Amino acid sequence: MPYEIGDKFKDECGVFGVFLNEPEDETDAASTAFYGLYALQHRGQESAGIAVSNGHKINLHKGMGLVTDVIKPDIIKQLKGNIAVAHVRYSTTGESGIVNAQPMVFHYLQGMLGIAHNGNLTNTIELRKQLATYGSVFQTTTDTELVANLLARYSQDKLEDGLTKCMIDLKGAFALIIITEDRMVGVRDQMGIRPLCLGDYEGSYVLASESAALDTIGAKFIRDMKPGEIVIIDKNGLKSSQVVNSPRCAHCVFEYIYFARPDSTLDGINVYQARRELGKQLARECNIDADMVISVPDSGTAAALGYGEESGLPFQDGLMKNRYVGRTFIQPTQSMRELSVRLKLNAVGKIVSGKKLIMVDDSIVRGTTSKQIVQMLRDAGAKEVHMAVSSPPTSYPCYYGIDTSRREELIASKLGVEEIRQFIGADSLNYLSREGMFKALGGNSEKYCDACFSGFYPVGVES
Ligand code: SF4
Repeated sequence: MPYEIGDKFKDECGVFGVFLNEPEDETDAASTAFYGLYALQHRGQESAGIAVSNGHKINLHKGMGLVTDVIKPDIIKQLKGNIAVAHVRYSTTGESGIVNAQPMVFHYLQGMLGIAHNGNLTNTIELRKQLATYGSVFQTTTDTELVANLLARYSQDKLEDGLTKCMIDLKGAFALIIITEDRMVGVRDQMGIRPLCLGDYEGSYVLASESAALDTIGAKFIRDMKPGEIVIIDKNGLKSSQVVNSPRCAHCVFEYIYFARPDSTLDGINVYQARRELGKQLARECNIDADMVISVPDSGTAAALGYGEESGLPFQDGLMKNRYVGRTFIQPTQSMRELSVRLKLNAVGKIVSGKKLIMVDDSIVRGTTSKQIVQMLRDAGAKEVHMAVSSPPTSYPCYYGIDTSRREELIASKLGVEEIRQFIGADSLNYLSREGMFKALGGNSEKYCDACFSGFYPVGVES
Protein backbone atom coordinates (compact mmCIF):
# COMPACT_ATOMS: atom_id res chain seq x y z
CA MET A 1 0.00 0.00 0.00
CA PRO A 2 2.16 2.90 -1.15
CA TYR A 3 -0.61 5.28 -0.18
CA GLU A 4 -3.98 5.10 1.42
CA ILE A 5 -7.33 6.09 0.08
CA GLY A 6 -9.03 8.50 2.42
CA ASP A 7 -9.71 8.05 6.05
CA LYS A 8 -8.15 4.88 7.36
CA PHE A 9 -6.57 4.06 10.65
CA LYS A 10 -2.92 4.90 10.11
CA ASP A 11 -0.35 2.14 10.24
CA GLU A 12 2.05 2.47 13.07
CA CYS A 13 5.67 1.57 12.33
CA GLY A 14 7.68 -1.20 10.77
CA VAL A 15 10.92 -2.61 12.16
CA PHE A 16 13.58 -4.81 10.60
CA GLY A 17 16.90 -6.13 11.90
CA VAL A 18 19.67 -8.36 10.58
CA PHE A 19 22.74 -9.95 12.16
CA LEU A 20 25.02 -11.34 9.44
CA ASN A 21 27.56 -13.91 10.57
CA GLU A 22 29.87 -13.72 7.59
CA PRO A 23 28.92 -10.96 5.17
CA GLU A 24 30.57 -11.14 1.76
CA ASP A 25 30.57 -7.39 1.52
CA GLU A 26 30.79 -4.85 4.31
CA THR A 27 27.58 -3.17 3.15
CA ASP A 28 25.52 -6.40 2.98
CA ALA A 29 23.75 -5.77 6.31
CA ALA A 30 22.73 -2.26 5.25
CA SER A 31 21.50 -3.47 1.83
CA THR A 32 19.55 -6.33 3.40
CA ALA A 33 17.98 -3.93 5.88
CA PHE A 34 17.08 -1.58 3.01
CA TYR A 35 15.20 -4.33 1.14
CA GLY A 36 13.55 -5.58 4.32
CA LEU A 37 12.44 -2.06 5.14
CA TYR A 38 11.20 -1.48 1.62
CA ALA A 39 8.88 -4.48 2.09
CA LEU A 40 7.48 -2.77 5.20
CA GLN A 41 6.86 0.62 3.61
CA HIS A 42 3.08 0.26 4.05
CA ARG A 43 3.61 0.46 7.85
CA GLY A 44 4.90 4.02 7.79
CA GLN A 45 5.61 6.62 5.15
CA GLU A 46 6.77 9.64 7.13
CA SER A 47 10.35 8.72 7.93
CA ALA A 48 12.85 5.93 7.39
CA GLY A 49 16.25 5.04 8.79
CA ILE A 50 18.96 2.42 9.13
CA ALA A 51 21.61 2.06 11.86
CA VAL A 52 24.57 -0.28 11.28
CA SER A 53 27.21 -1.56 13.69
CA ASN A 54 30.73 -2.25 12.45
CA GLY A 55 31.72 -3.91 15.72
CA HIS A 56 33.05 -0.72 17.29
CA LYS A 57 30.56 1.96 16.44
CA ILE A 58 26.96 2.30 15.31
CA ASN A 59 26.46 4.59 12.30
CA LEU A 60 23.05 5.97 11.50
CA HIS A 61 21.23 7.50 8.59
CA LYS A 62 17.60 8.59 8.75
CA GLY A 63 15.36 11.19 7.21
CA MET A 64 11.84 12.25 6.37
CA GLY A 65 10.15 10.52 3.44
CA LEU A 66 9.81 7.10 1.86
CA VAL A 67 12.51 4.44 2.13
CA THR A 68 13.78 5.13 -1.39
CA ASP A 69 13.81 8.91 -0.77
CA VAL A 70 15.89 8.57 2.38
CA ILE A 71 18.20 5.63 1.81
CA LYS A 72 20.01 6.11 -1.48
CA PRO A 73 22.80 3.85 -2.84
CA ASP A 74 25.55 6.28 -1.76
CA ILE A 75 24.20 6.16 1.80
CA ILE A 76 24.28 2.34 1.83
CA LYS A 77 27.95 2.46 0.80
CA GLN A 78 28.72 4.43 3.96
CA LEU A 79 26.85 2.09 6.31
CA LYS A 80 29.45 -0.62 6.82
CA GLY A 81 29.12 -3.45 9.32
CA ASN A 82 27.38 -6.76 9.92
CA ILE A 83 24.48 -5.78 12.22
CA ALA A 84 21.69 -3.46 11.11
CA VAL A 85 18.39 -2.21 12.45
CA ALA A 86 15.89 -0.28 10.34
CA HIS A 87 12.63 1.53 10.86
CA VAL A 88 9.77 3.14 8.95
CA ARG A 89 7.51 5.45 10.85
CA TYR A 90 4.11 6.94 10.84
CA SER A 91 4.11 9.19 13.87
CA THR A 92 2.17 7.87 16.84
CA THR A 93 3.67 9.02 20.12
CA GLY A 94 5.79 12.09 19.55
CA GLU A 95 5.31 14.69 16.88
CA SER A 96 6.29 14.01 13.34
CA GLY A 97 9.77 15.29 12.51
CA ILE A 98 13.34 14.23 12.05
CA VAL A 99 14.08 14.49 15.77
CA ASN A 100 11.55 11.71 16.38
CA ALA A 101 12.56 9.58 13.38
CA GLN A 102 14.05 6.17 14.10
CA PRO A 103 16.22 4.19 14.68
CA MET A 104 17.69 6.23 17.52
CA VAL A 105 21.30 5.77 18.56
CA PHE A 106 22.46 6.34 22.15
CA HIS A 107 25.68 6.11 24.14
CA TYR A 108 25.48 4.56 27.56
CA LEU A 109 27.82 3.04 30.11
CA GLN A 110 28.20 -0.23 28.19
CA GLY A 111 28.69 1.33 24.76
CA MET A 112 26.20 2.16 22.04
CA LEU A 113 22.59 1.22 21.36
CA GLY A 114 20.57 1.50 18.14
CA ILE A 115 16.85 1.14 18.85
CA ALA A 116 13.81 0.75 16.60
CA HIS A 117 10.39 0.57 18.19
CA ASN A 118 6.91 -0.25 16.94
CA GLY A 119 4.00 0.30 19.28
CA ASN A 120 3.05 2.55 22.12
CA LEU A 121 3.84 2.35 25.81
CA THR A 122 0.91 2.98 28.11
CA ASN A 123 2.82 4.01 31.24
CA THR A 124 5.03 6.76 29.80
CA ILE A 125 3.97 9.50 32.22
CA GLU A 126 4.90 7.36 35.21
CA LEU A 127 8.15 6.15 33.62
CA ARG A 128 9.23 9.65 32.57
CA LYS A 129 8.63 10.89 36.11
CA GLN A 130 10.64 8.03 37.57
CA LEU A 131 13.50 8.52 35.13
CA ALA A 132 13.52 12.31 35.63
CA THR A 133 13.94 11.67 39.35
CA TYR A 134 17.14 9.76 38.49
CA GLY A 135 18.33 12.70 36.40
CA SER A 136 17.30 11.61 32.89
CA VAL A 137 16.72 14.34 30.32
CA PHE A 138 14.78 13.83 27.12
CA GLN A 139 15.37 15.30 23.68
CA THR A 140 12.31 13.77 22.05
CA THR A 141 8.79 12.76 22.98
CA THR A 142 9.20 9.19 21.74
CA ASP A 143 8.87 5.94 23.62
CA THR A 144 12.15 4.86 22.04
CA GLU A 145 14.14 7.41 24.01
CA LEU A 146 12.34 6.31 27.13
CA VAL A 147 13.42 2.70 26.52
CA ALA A 148 17.02 3.83 26.02
CA ASN A 149 16.95 5.82 29.27
CA LEU A 150 15.51 2.86 31.09
CA LEU A 151 18.24 0.59 29.73
CA ALA A 152 20.84 3.17 30.71
CA ARG A 153 19.44 3.14 34.24
CA TYR A 154 20.20 -0.58 34.39
CA SER A 155 23.59 -0.21 32.74
CA GLN A 156 25.42 -1.70 35.73
CA ASP A 157 23.72 -4.98 34.85
CA LYS A 158 24.56 -7.33 31.99
CA LEU A 159 22.48 -6.46 28.91
CA GLU A 160 20.27 -9.55 29.45
CA ASP A 161 19.52 -8.53 33.01
CA GLY A 162 18.94 -4.89 32.12
CA LEU A 163 16.53 -5.92 29.38
CA THR A 164 14.67 -8.21 31.75
CA LYS A 165 14.20 -5.35 34.22
CA CYS A 166 13.07 -3.05 31.40
CA MET A 167 10.56 -5.60 30.23
CA ILE A 168 9.00 -5.68 33.69
CA ASP A 169 8.81 -1.85 33.78
CA LEU A 170 7.39 -1.35 30.30
CA LYS A 171 3.62 -1.56 29.86
CA GLY A 172 1.71 -1.43 26.61
CA ALA A 173 2.43 -2.53 23.07
CA PHE A 174 5.97 -2.82 21.82
CA ALA A 175 8.03 -4.72 19.30
CA LEU A 176 11.62 -3.60 19.73
CA ILE A 177 14.77 -4.34 17.80
CA ILE A 178 17.94 -3.16 19.53
CA ILE A 179 21.50 -3.43 18.29
CA THR A 180 24.68 -2.95 20.25
CA GLU A 181 28.17 -3.01 18.77
CA ASP A 182 28.11 -6.83 18.70
CA ARG A 183 24.55 -8.02 19.32
CA MET A 184 21.02 -7.81 18.03
CA VAL A 185 18.07 -8.06 20.40
CA GLY A 186 14.36 -8.61 19.70
CA VAL A 187 11.74 -7.87 22.36
CA ARG A 188 7.97 -8.41 22.15
CA ASP A 189 5.44 -7.07 24.63
CA GLN A 190 3.90 -9.46 27.11
CA MET A 191 0.61 -9.78 25.22
CA GLY A 192 2.11 -9.83 21.74
CA ILE A 193 0.00 -6.85 20.66
CA ARG A 194 2.42 -5.73 17.96
CA PRO A 195 3.88 -8.37 15.63
CA LEU A 196 7.53 -9.44 15.41
CA CYS A 197 8.93 -12.55 13.71
CA LEU A 198 12.25 -14.28 13.38
CA GLY A 199 13.82 -15.57 10.19
CA ASP A 200 16.83 -17.49 8.94
CA TYR A 201 18.80 -15.69 6.26
CA GLU A 202 21.38 -18.12 4.90
CA GLY A 203 22.37 -19.18 8.41
CA SER A 204 22.11 -15.67 9.89
CA TYR A 205 19.19 -14.21 11.82
CA VAL A 206 16.70 -11.53 10.85
CA LEU A 207 13.82 -9.95 12.75
CA ALA A 208 10.88 -8.21 11.12
CA SER A 209 7.43 -6.81 11.84
CA GLU A 210 5.95 -9.01 9.13
CA SER A 211 6.88 -12.24 7.40
CA ALA A 212 6.52 -10.59 3.95
CA ALA A 213 9.78 -8.76 4.69
CA LEU A 214 11.52 -12.11 5.21
CA ASP A 215 10.14 -13.38 1.88
CA THR A 216 11.38 -10.25 0.12
CA ILE A 217 15.01 -10.77 1.13
CA GLY A 218 14.82 -14.56 0.63
CA ALA A 219 14.91 -15.47 4.33
CA LYS A 220 13.05 -18.45 5.80
CA PHE A 221 10.42 -17.81 8.43
CA ILE A 222 11.44 -19.51 11.68
CA ARG A 223 8.68 -18.40 14.05
CA ASP A 224 6.83 -15.49 15.57
CA MET A 225 8.43 -14.13 18.68
CA LYS A 226 6.46 -15.16 21.73
CA PRO A 227 4.68 -12.55 23.81
CA GLY A 228 7.00 -11.54 26.66
CA GLU A 229 10.09 -13.02 24.97
CA ILE A 230 13.54 -11.55 24.48
CA VAL A 231 15.96 -12.98 21.92
CA ILE A 232 19.62 -12.01 21.94
CA ILE A 233 21.65 -12.83 18.85
CA ASP A 234 25.43 -12.69 18.72
CA LYS A 235 28.28 -14.52 17.00
CA ASN A 236 27.54 -17.59 19.12
CA GLY A 237 23.92 -17.84 17.99
CA LEU A 238 20.53 -17.08 19.49
CA LYS A 239 19.51 -17.09 23.12
CA SER A 240 15.83 -16.81 24.03
CA SER A 241 14.39 -15.86 27.42
CA GLN A 242 10.73 -15.88 28.35
CA VAL A 243 10.83 -12.87 30.64
CA VAL A 244 7.19 -12.25 31.45
CA ASN A 245 4.24 -14.57 31.19
CA SER A 246 0.86 -13.06 30.58
CA PRO A 247 -2.35 -15.01 31.21
CA ARG A 248 -3.54 -14.07 27.73
CA CYS A 249 -2.33 -12.81 24.33
CA ALA A 250 -3.83 -9.75 22.68
CA HIS A 251 -2.66 -9.75 19.05
CA CYS A 252 -3.99 -6.67 17.25
CA VAL A 253 -7.00 -7.83 15.26
CA PHE A 254 -6.68 -4.82 12.95
CA GLU A 255 -3.43 -6.18 11.55
CA TYR A 256 -5.55 -8.87 9.87
CA ILE A 257 -8.32 -6.51 8.85
CA TYR A 258 -6.21 -3.76 7.33
CA PHE A 259 -2.64 -2.97 8.45
CA ALA A 260 -0.52 -5.93 7.50
CA ARG A 261 0.37 -6.99 3.99
CA PRO A 262 -1.95 -9.74 2.70
CA ASP A 263 1.06 -11.93 1.92
CA SER A 264 2.23 -11.86 5.54
CA THR A 265 1.44 -14.55 8.07
CA LEU A 266 1.14 -13.22 11.62
CA ASP A 267 0.96 -15.47 14.66
CA GLY A 268 -0.06 -18.45 12.55
CA ILE A 269 -2.72 -16.78 10.41
CA ASN A 270 -2.19 -15.70 6.82
CA VAL A 271 -3.54 -12.18 6.38
CA TYR A 272 -5.00 -12.73 2.91
CA GLN A 273 -6.86 -15.85 4.01
CA ALA A 274 -8.10 -14.05 7.11
CA ARG A 275 -9.50 -11.22 4.99
CA ARG A 276 -11.17 -13.69 2.64
CA GLU A 277 -12.76 -15.48 5.61
CA LEU A 278 -13.92 -12.12 7.02
CA GLY A 279 -15.60 -11.46 3.65
CA LYS A 280 -17.24 -14.89 3.60
CA GLN A 281 -18.58 -14.41 7.09
CA LEU A 282 -19.87 -10.97 6.12
CA ALA A 283 -21.79 -12.55 3.22
CA ARG A 284 -23.31 -15.08 5.63
CA GLU A 285 -24.51 -12.25 7.85
CA CYS A 286 -25.89 -10.04 5.05
CA ASN A 287 -28.80 -10.85 2.81
CA ILE A 288 -28.59 -8.35 0.00
CA ASP A 289 -30.14 -8.67 -3.40
CA ALA A 290 -27.47 -7.43 -5.83
CA ASP A 291 -25.90 -8.01 -9.26
CA MET A 292 -22.27 -8.01 -8.22
CA VAL A 293 -19.69 -7.45 -5.51
CA ILE A 294 -17.04 -4.75 -5.89
CA SER A 295 -14.27 -3.69 -3.53
CA VAL A 296 -12.68 -0.46 -2.42
CA PRO A 297 -9.20 -1.35 -3.65
CA ASP A 298 -6.90 -2.60 -2.36
CA SER A 299 -7.81 -2.92 1.28
CA GLY A 300 -11.31 -4.31 0.66
CA THR A 301 -10.42 -6.66 -2.20
CA ALA A 302 -9.66 -9.94 -0.39
CA ALA A 303 -12.82 -9.57 1.71
CA ALA A 304 -14.87 -8.74 -1.41
CA LEU A 305 -13.56 -11.89 -3.12
CA GLY A 306 -14.60 -13.90 -0.05
CA TYR A 307 -18.00 -12.23 -0.09
CA GLY A 308 -18.45 -13.10 -3.76
CA GLU A 309 -17.35 -16.69 -3.21
CA GLU A 310 -19.80 -17.22 -0.35
CA SER A 311 -22.75 -15.38 -1.88
CA GLY A 312 -22.32 -16.72 -5.39
CA LEU A 313 -22.32 -13.16 -6.79
CA PRO A 314 -19.66 -12.22 -9.35
CA PHE A 315 -16.77 -10.03 -8.20
CA GLN A 316 -16.01 -7.16 -10.59
CA ASP A 317 -13.48 -4.31 -10.65
CA GLY A 318 -16.05 -1.54 -10.33
CA LEU A 319 -13.57 0.86 -8.79
CA MET A 320 -10.13 1.40 -10.24
CA LYS A 321 -7.19 2.72 -8.29
CA ASN A 322 -4.58 4.95 -9.87
CA ARG A 323 -1.47 3.01 -8.88
CA TYR A 324 0.90 5.78 -9.85
CA VAL A 325 -0.20 8.44 -7.43
CA GLY A 326 2.43 8.96 -4.76
CA ARG A 327 1.91 10.46 -1.38
CA THR A 328 0.03 13.69 -1.57
CA PHE A 329 1.52 16.50 0.46
CA ILE A 330 -1.66 18.54 0.39
CA GLN A 331 -3.14 19.67 3.65
CA PRO A 332 -5.96 17.46 4.88
CA THR A 333 -8.68 20.06 4.71
CA GLN A 334 -12.10 18.75 3.80
CA SER A 335 -12.07 20.02 0.21
CA MET A 336 -8.59 18.68 -0.36
CA ARG A 337 -9.51 15.29 1.00
CA GLU A 338 -12.24 15.06 -1.59
CA LEU A 339 -9.82 15.85 -4.40
CA SER A 340 -7.39 13.36 -2.94
CA VAL A 341 -9.97 10.54 -3.19
CA ARG A 342 -10.81 11.38 -6.82
CA LEU A 343 -7.12 11.43 -7.72
CA LYS A 344 -6.69 7.96 -6.36
CA LEU A 345 -9.93 6.22 -7.28
CA ASN A 346 -12.40 6.16 -10.13
CA ALA A 347 -15.60 4.25 -10.88
CA VAL A 348 -15.72 2.10 -14.02
CA GLY A 349 -18.98 3.24 -15.62
CA LYS A 350 -19.17 0.32 -18.07
CA ILE A 351 -19.19 -2.13 -15.15
CA VAL A 352 -21.35 -0.39 -12.58
CA SER A 353 -23.91 1.47 -14.70
CA GLY A 354 -27.46 0.22 -14.10
CA LYS A 355 -26.26 -2.37 -11.57
CA LYS A 356 -27.09 -3.13 -7.95
CA LEU A 357 -23.73 -3.21 -6.18
CA ILE A 358 -22.38 -4.52 -2.92
CA MET A 359 -19.30 -2.44 -2.15
CA VAL A 360 -16.96 -4.11 0.37
CA ASP A 361 -14.43 -2.15 2.43
CA ASP A 362 -12.44 -3.14 5.50
CA SER A 363 -13.57 -0.31 7.80
CA ILE A 364 -15.17 3.11 8.04
CA VAL A 365 -13.31 5.69 10.14
CA ARG A 366 -14.75 9.18 9.58
CA GLY A 367 -17.17 8.15 6.84
CA THR A 368 -16.23 11.03 4.53
CA THR A 369 -14.38 8.83 2.03
CA SER A 370 -17.14 6.21 1.92
CA LYS A 371 -19.63 8.99 1.24
CA GLN A 372 -17.60 10.23 -1.73
CA ILE A 373 -17.13 6.75 -3.14
CA VAL A 374 -20.86 5.98 -2.90
CA GLN A 375 -21.57 9.24 -4.75
CA MET A 376 -18.90 8.43 -7.33
CA LEU A 377 -20.62 5.10 -8.05
CA ARG A 378 -24.02 6.77 -8.32
CA ASP A 379 -22.57 9.39 -10.69
CA ALA A 380 -21.26 6.51 -12.80
CA GLY A 381 -24.81 5.15 -13.08
CA ALA A 382 -25.02 2.53 -10.32
CA LYS A 383 -28.64 1.66 -9.57
CA GLU A 384 -28.08 0.71 -5.92
CA VAL A 385 -25.00 0.90 -3.70
CA HIS A 386 -24.97 -1.35 -0.63
CA MET A 387 -21.97 -0.96 1.63
CA ALA A 388 -20.65 -3.99 3.49
CA VAL A 389 -17.80 -3.61 5.98
CA SER A 390 -15.58 -6.58 6.87
CA SER A 391 -15.16 -5.48 10.51
CA PRO A 392 -17.43 -4.16 13.28
CA PRO A 393 -17.94 -0.39 13.76
CA THR A 394 -14.72 1.32 14.94
CA SER A 395 -16.03 3.26 17.91
CA TYR A 396 -12.99 3.55 20.19
CA PRO A 397 -9.47 4.93 19.78
CA CYS A 398 -6.35 2.78 19.93
CA TYR A 399 -3.72 3.45 22.60
CA TYR A 400 -1.32 0.79 21.36
CA GLY A 401 0.51 2.49 18.54
CA ILE A 402 -2.15 3.09 15.90
CA ASP A 403 -3.32 6.56 14.93
CA THR A 404 -7.07 6.11 14.97
CA SER A 405 -8.08 9.77 14.95
CA ARG A 406 -9.58 11.24 18.07
CA ARG A 407 -12.64 9.48 19.39
CA GLU A 408 -14.96 12.30 18.35
CA GLU A 409 -13.74 11.89 14.76
CA LEU A 410 -14.76 8.23 14.64
CA ILE A 411 -18.18 8.27 13.06
CA ALA A 412 -19.27 5.07 14.81
CA SER A 413 -18.57 6.64 18.22
CA LYS A 414 -21.32 9.20 17.60
CA LEU A 415 -23.77 7.64 15.18
CA GLY A 416 -25.67 4.37 14.93
CA VAL A 417 -25.55 2.17 11.82
CA GLU A 418 -28.69 3.68 10.25
CA GLU A 419 -27.39 7.22 10.81
CA ILE A 420 -24.05 6.30 9.27
CA ARG A 421 -25.89 4.81 6.28
CA GLN A 422 -27.73 8.07 5.82
CA PHE A 423 -24.50 10.05 6.13
CA ILE A 424 -22.65 8.02 3.48
CA GLY A 425 -25.75 7.87 1.26
CA ALA A 426 -25.75 4.09 0.70
CA ASP A 427 -28.90 2.05 0.09
CA SER A 428 -27.92 -0.23 2.95
CA LEU A 429 -25.01 -0.56 5.35
CA ASN A 430 -23.90 -3.76 7.02
CA TYR A 431 -20.99 -4.29 9.38
CA LEU A 432 -19.51 -7.66 10.29
CA SER A 433 -20.50 -8.69 13.81
CA ARG A 434 -17.82 -9.01 16.51
CA GLU A 435 -18.69 -12.70 16.91
CA GLY A 436 -18.45 -13.14 13.15
CA MET A 437 -15.04 -11.46 13.10
CA PHE A 438 -13.64 -13.88 15.69
CA LYS A 439 -15.28 -16.84 13.96
CA ALA A 440 -13.53 -15.87 10.71
CA LEU A 441 -10.22 -15.65 12.60
CA GLY A 442 -10.50 -19.12 14.06
CA GLY A 443 -12.92 -18.65 16.91
CA ASN A 444 -10.67 -17.72 19.82
CA SER A 445 -11.53 -14.16 20.85
CA GLU A 446 -9.18 -14.43 23.87
CA LYS A 447 -6.16 -14.29 21.56
CA TYR A 448 -6.86 -10.81 20.25
CA CYS A 449 -7.09 -7.16 21.12
CA ASP A 450 -10.21 -5.68 19.54
CA ALA A 451 -10.47 -2.60 21.77
CA CYS A 452 -11.17 -0.22 18.87
CA PHE A 453 -14.39 -2.16 18.29
CA SER A 454 -15.32 -3.24 21.80
CA GLY A 455 -13.74 -0.68 24.14
CA PHE A 456 -12.21 -3.57 26.15
CA TYR A 457 -8.57 -2.55 26.51
CA PRO A 458 -6.33 -5.51 27.38
CA VAL A 459 -3.67 -3.27 28.97
CA GLY A 460 -4.69 -0.39 31.23
CA VAL A 461 -4.16 3.09 29.85
CA GLU A 462 -2.83 6.11 31.81
CA SER A 463 -5.47 8.80 32.21
S1 SF4 B 1 -7.20 -1.07 19.74
FE1 SF4 B 1 -7.60 -1.83 17.63
S2 SF4 B 1 -5.90 -1.05 16.39
FE2 SF4 B 1 -5.30 -0.85 18.55
S3 SF4 B 1 -4.13 -2.73 19.02
FE3 SF4 B 1 -6.26 -3.11 19.60
S4 SF4 B 1 -7.20 -4.02 17.75
FE4 SF4 B 1 -5.29 -3.07 17.13
